[in-house]
This record gives sequence, C-alpha cells and structure tokens, in this order.
Amino acid sequence: MLHHKVVAASVSELVQLGPQPVPYAPASGPLIDTFGRTHSDLRISVTDRCNIRCFYCMPEAGAEFAPVSELLSFDEITRFVSIALLLGIDKIRLTGGEPLLRPNLPALISELGELSGIRDLALTTNAVLLAKSAQDLFDAGLRRLNIHLDTLDRERFRTITRRDDLARVLAGIDRAQAAGFKRIKLNAVAIKGLTEPDVIPLVRFARDRNMEVRFIEFMPLDAQHLWSLDRVLTADNMIAMLTREFGPLTPVPDSDPRAPATEYRFGDGQRVGFIASVSRPFCLNCNRLRLTSDGKLRNCLFARDETDIKVALRSQDPAAALEPLIRSVVWQKWAGHEISRSSFVAPQRPMYSIGG
Ligand code: SAM
Ligand code: SF4
Repeated sequence: MLHHKVVAASVSELVQLGPQPVPYAPASGPLIDTFGRTHSDLRISVTDRCNIRCFYCMPEAGAEFAPVSELLSFDEITRFVSIALLLGIDKIRLTGGEPLLRPNLPALISELGELSGIRDLALTTNAVLLAKSAQDLFDAGLRRLNIHLDTLDRERFRTITRRDDLARVLAGIDRAQAAGFKRIKLNAVAIKGLTEPDVIPLVRFARDRNMEVRFIEFMPLDAQHLWSLDRVLTADNMIAMLTREFGPLTPVPDSDPRAPATEYRFGDGQRVGFIASVSRPFCLNCNRLRLTSDGKLRNCLFARDETDIKVALRSQDPAAALEPLIRSVVWQKWAGHEISRSSFVAPQRPMYSIGG
C-alpha cells in the first residue's frame, strides 16, 4: 500500500498532541513512544573519526574524539543489534564519523548478516576510502550504499571538505558500481550561497549513472556553530531549479512514510529525493534510534540527553538489562526538534560524533 508522509507544519502542532500521561514505557510489545510512533530503524556509528573535514559537521582543527578504548567492539555492536531485533528493529544503518576508517568493517557486516531479522542493512560513507573496500563490503553481504557527495567541482569540494579528495570519491563510486552495488544513493548537503551550482550537475551525474541524489537541508549540527536559517537551501528552492531545467517533478507517494526523504519523479521516471528536515520537519513520522560509537543511545539527532548502554551490554544478562533501557529511551522521545524556532538549542555533540 502507498502512503503519504505526514509533515507537521511546525513542531508545536505535534506538541499539541501532547504526550500521554503514562510515566513508564510498556514492558512488552513494539518499541513505542508516547506519541504512538513505533521504532524500527537503528543507526549505528562505528567511529567518530573522519578523514575529511566538512565545515557543516567538523571543525577544521581540534576535533574532539572519544578514546578508542571507549568504542563498542564488533561483538558488542552485534550483541546490541541481536537484542534490538527482538524488540522490533529491522533496519540498520552503519555510519560515523567515517565508517570506512573502522578497521575490518566487512567483518562487522558479515557478523550482522548472520543475525536473522534484519530487513535492510545499509552503510553511509564519504567514499574517500571506498575504492579499496567496495568489493570486500559487497562480498561480506552489504547491498545498500549511501555515498556523500555535495559537488562535482574540485574547488568547491575542497572548500566544503577542506581536503582535495574528489577524485578518490569518484573512484570509490566507480569501484562500488563495478563491485555490484545497485541503486546507490548520493547524499548532498545543500547550502544556500554555496551549492546552488551543484544541484543540476549532481542530478545529471546521478541520472547518467543510475543513482539517485537526495539533497539534505543544512541542519544545525556543525561543530563550529556556523548554521543559520538563511544558509539553508530548501527543498522548494531546489525543486524550482530542477523544474526549470528538467520540466515538472511529480511527487512519488511514499512506499515507506517513515523514510526521511520525500521523493519526486522526473518525466522520464528517474527520481530525486529531499531530506527537508528544516523546511518540512517530518518528526511525526520518525522511527529512528541512534547508537553512538561510544555506546550512547539517543532517540533523536537533536536530543539533549543520551543513555549509556555499555554497562547493561556488558552485564551477565544483557538482554534483560538492555530491554528496559531501550524501551525507556524510546518512551522519552520528544515530539520533535524545533530548529526554526528561536528557542532551539543545538545538541552538544556535533554530527560526526552522533552519527548521521
Ligand atoms: N562520513 C559519512 C558521510 O559523510 O556520509 C557518514 C557520516 S555523516 C555525519 C552522515 C551524513 O550526514 C552525511 O552524508 C552528510 O550528508 C550529513 N550531514 C553532516 N552534517 C550535516 C549537517 N550539518 N546538516 C545536514 N546533513 C549533514
Ligand atoms: Fe566526515 Fe561525514 Fe562529517 Fe563530512 S559529514 S566531516 S565526511 S563525518
């Protein structure tokens, strides 16, 4: 059945729905919050390190990282996932920092592949190291890749990432396609006053290569606090540009209304997506949980609180210790972020440290 995504005009609309006055999370059943949202999507950061320095994510110098000794091991990640699967999680995305910096990542993919119940396993990467590892990742069982690419212009790539690695990213895309990855998605962060010249070339590049671009509105998750509302290139701005170039775009009814991207189809059937977290907040549909590389469970990218799961995970009976923790993190989820309000407070951790 096709669904339409419910997009709240504002978060205050959600808040008016109120949390139900029930103090404790249910002890069984689906992972539900007080707004009735059932959670089935878990994003796992495998490292907070990165090999480039996108200005909307990391500081140019002096980034703070968790000590390597604090990172969850692959066994611990797999143990956590096996318990989360029992509670209704069925979609896993590995991310970071840059996940390909984590040594031996294909081994984690294989370990996760042995668990039953994962409907969808995906990886988000900047692709700088992908040429080397694409085949190993594919052979380990990975089939879904999101590759971060904001521009095809070498100078702008350098401005955005503070590194000269565009050629390596493009080689990574080539190797991933040669290894067998199909329907690769390109993630492009859209910044007003900077990436307008990239919108059409990226769409052409993706269409020629049988990939799909998803433009992501710039969110206030950057370490240097450079974000402001007037730096957000909105989905509407980009749809207008694309319509002028390619003709009308038709909205695609959501096959999964909880997926963050809103998709449109061009006249020839090719697609483009928008993750319009700022101009069209989709918190009402949110079904996501996040596990940081140092073992903190978060119920929202913008959450101000997080819950350490390491002690429970390392206990005698991790399933018994973790289940109430996971249920309670979900239960405490707020209605949604309030990015465009003056009362908005950015989370302490920037994007690279949370896991995007
Ligand atoms: N390093 C990998 C990468 O860049 O794809 C994975 C982690 S990165 C934090 C995940 C995604 O977050 C990136 O694809 C990028 O598009 C997005 N991102 C990072 N900072 C952002 C911001 N301030 N606003 C919107 N999207 C952002
Ligand atoms: Fe690294 Fe990804 Fe952040 Fe860019 S967005 S600095 S590639 S973690």
